[in-house]
Amino acid sequence: MKTSEVLHAWAGILEGRRPSLSIEITKECPLRCPGCYAFDDAHLGDSETTLRQLSDFKGDALVQGILDVVDRYRPLHLSLVGGDPLVRYRELELLLPELDQRGIHVQIVTSAFRAIPRHWADLPRLNLVVSIDGLQPEHDARRKPATYERILKNLEGARATIHCTITGQIADKPHYLEDFLRFWTARPEAKKVWMSLFTPQIGAEGPEILTPEVRAAVIAELLRLRPLYPILDMHQSCIEEFRNPPKSPEECIFALTTHTVSADLKTAITPCQFGGNPDCSQCGCIASMGLAAVGHHKVAGNLTAGRIFMVSDRIGTGVRKLLAQPRRAS
Ligand code: SF4
Ligand code: SF4
Repeated sequence: MKTSEVLHAWAGILEGRRPSLSIEITKECPLRCPGCYAFDDAHLGDSETTLRQLSDFKGDALVQGILDVVDRYRPLHLSLVGGDPLVRYRELELLLPELDQRGIHVQIVTSAFRAIPRHWADLPRLNLVVSIDGLQPEHDARRKPATYERILKNLEGARATIHCTITGQIADKPHYLEDFLRFWTARPEAKKVWMSLFTPQIGAEGPEILTPEVRAAVIAELLRLRPLYPILDMHQSCIEEFRNPPKSPEECIFALTTHTVSADLKTAITPCQFGGNPDCSQCGCIASMGLAAVGHHKVAGNLTAGRIFMVSDRIGTGVRKLLAQPRRAS
């Protein structure tokens, strides 16, 4: 991010705005991945309603609805997620140039179950993130019909960030992460690799969840691999944050700087993109760890960037409340 954009983001925070916006642009997805948080019963924070039950939009109504949300929140960074956003690829064709004109950095997170339009590679502010859950045997078992064979075909001519969520099923397999990095280093479609760890809801159980011992071993392995595979685009300090994630959403800079809206373009997902009651003590979100690392950066003496952010955020919250008060006629 440029200095001017950092200052712009900071000014927005002081006005009570969040610099990052995430929109679940559709409730539809052709996949049924085990452990998917978007379709978890707790995602919308209301046991009565799930993402599949929300009304979503298509066509011009979706394009205009998203632009209205964007113009209201004026983010610097926008994530388009789902469901799978490529279900609405026709609408994306109309939206992406509009968002580019507004100077917004856009990230599309997809399973790449359908072909990526080649001309998207010409959009300088677009980051295409493709979710790939390990090497072919484990990925294909979880993510059919978006199998490796199909993804590699659909990515022809594209340049994507490969995002792997490390689950309990692959975390303790010997040399697995190194084999994954070696495979994607050799692929021209991959410009970088990000790795997250599976994040459960509080009290959840299941094979996706990493034990504390396995989690510690994965962190050590990522630290070892980082200098060997430059495609792994994760700073050392970001990986080290996995050892000590934010204690709560109130201490999570990512949660505090990102507003997430669901497929009806109204419902806010809280406290972060996972929704429900996520277990921060087991958080494995790369974005949360990256911003936590920035927050721990010392700006002067013992003054950290995170301390400056928290004070700015409190000022912004006060400003927002003040502006929301009804004005009395004098
Ligand atoms: S592709 Fe994404 S949204 Fe669809 S089921 Fe899998 S994890 Fe969930
Ligand atoms: S991103 Fe992680 S640390 Fe932040 S609120 Fe969500 S679960 Fe907690």
